[in-house]
Amino acid sequence: MPEASSANFNRLVEPKLKERRLTRQARETCSAANHIAGACLVNLTWVCSPRMNSLLLTGGRVIDPANRLDAVADLLILNGKIAAVGKDAATQAPGEIERFDAKGKIVCPGLIDLHVHLREPGQTAKENIATGTAAAARGGFTSVVCMPNTSPAIDNAGTVALIHERAAQHGVVNVFVTGAITKNIAGEELASIGSLKRAGVVAITDDGHCVQNNELMRRALEYAKMFDLPVMDHCQDYSLVTDGVMHEGYWSTVLGLRGWPSAGEEMIVARNILLAELTGARVHCQHLSAAGSVALLREAKKRGVPISGEACPHHFTLTDAAIAGSEKFWAEDGKNFFSTLNPQPSTLNSFPEWPAYDTNFKMNPPLRTARDREAILEGLADGTIEILCSDHAPHCDYEKEVEFDYAPFGITGLETELSLSLMQLVHARRISLPDLIVKYTVNPARLLNLKKGTLGVGADADVTVFDPDREWIFERDETASKSSNSPFFGWKLKGRTVATIVNGKKIWIEQAELAPV
Ligand SMILES: [Zn+2]
Repeated sequence: MPEASSANFNRLVEPKLKERRLTRQARETCSAANHIAGACLVNLTWVCSPRMNSLLLTGGRVIDPANRLDAVADLLILNGKIAAVGKDAATQAPGEIERFDAKGKIVCPGLIDLHVHLREPGQTAKENIATGTAAAARGGFTSVVCMPNTSPAIDNAGTVALIHERAAQHGVVNVFVTGAITKNIAGEELASIGSLKRAGVVAITDDGHCVQNNELMRRALEYAKMFDLPVMDHCQDYSLVTDGVMHEGYWSTVLGLRGWPSAGEEMIVARNILLAELTGARVHCQHLSAAGSVALLREAKKRGVPISGEACPHHFTLTDAAIAGSEKFWAEDGKNFFSTLNPQPSTLNSFPEWPAYDTNFKMNPPLRTARDREAILEGLADGTIEILCSDHAPHCDYEKEVEFDYAPFGITGLETELSLSLMQLVHARRISLPDLIVKYTVNPARLLNLKKGTLGVGADADVTVFDPDREWIFERDETASKSSNSPFFGWKLKGRTVATIVNGKKIWIEQAELAPV
């Protein structure tokens, strides 16, 4: 329901004021010549290290699945590269090197999120490369892969070059770019896939949209295979989904909202499996939400079809009951969520609250049933779904503050995804910590042929340090994103990034780590 115009005005103006205030603070607090462009614009916890590219991390539990390492060890970074890992790494460090005490923390390869909307160019009221990568750094991500549904769409080499240039100027983490499958993401005519590859895209996708014409999709896969590019697909059959706004089921009936059936996703997952089999091209199904999609993927992978899938924390944390309001969600589908917290919320009144029809629970694909959520969790546990990501999709407050039917789909996710994944997968004892890290490092790097996701000697020193047990509350005024469309504000979460290191530079340190002990 539209709010009073004065409230909308405040919400429109407030982000701009916040940005100006933070920019002024950054100027006052960071005069070091060697700070990373953009890093200091967002939060006072950004740091400027005197020796930017060398660091010794001591005493952490180093988990590096790419090198089968899981041990308490030191990690030495020299000139932006991993120089040594192990008990004797400290002996090789120059005497004056900066040290970081990682005792009691996890030290792992920098996390990769392969599904992020940075909204630049053309939608920078929602997000831009500086703010989006700042949110990534806060969440522990050293690399993000941005989607091409910008304005204009990233469907040609010139726009790819523009993103690379802006990312080099304003990004605080590595930004990899995807190109569109079709011109202007219109689903009608193939983009110049070879030209996009030469410009440096790591995959092609029409994300936000889905190529409906199966013959066109077949040709896209054949071209992509020639250029050794994976094709990532947002699986949505338009004729089945039509104008659905939430999962089609019990709650859509109760709430009187138009339904979006699971088959609308499963139909395209099945199509992609058949076309991957036909062409031999690598197809990756994005943000899977339905139990049937997981079953299809599991069966196809057994047959050796080159298909893969990803899942986002909102789909394996929330359900469609959340759209009926917090009370309905916590009463049944959400009742175990906080079971690993200490202390747990004691009464239903102390759980996070939100009203029915809250548009921060509207996403594409939609939140589904508890059975679907369980299937996604099982798919992650048995390896059917190899990759975790956020589908970080910022939108302005004024866009979301409308009736549920009219609000855009999507939520921000970079700053909460590691915590939610830890809670739902590791603390819930579904997968091990190394298996979780694989899904954020080795597996996305392998799919996209990125030279990332490893702490091997000589690799780029992209490192994430996190405390899997730290409990914290995600506060609205602390987000680094330009947008605030998260359903998780006010939630107590378990597991938090402590430091994010890109090319040997500490680009984010959690405030508590800077406080004198
Ligand atoms: Zn999508």
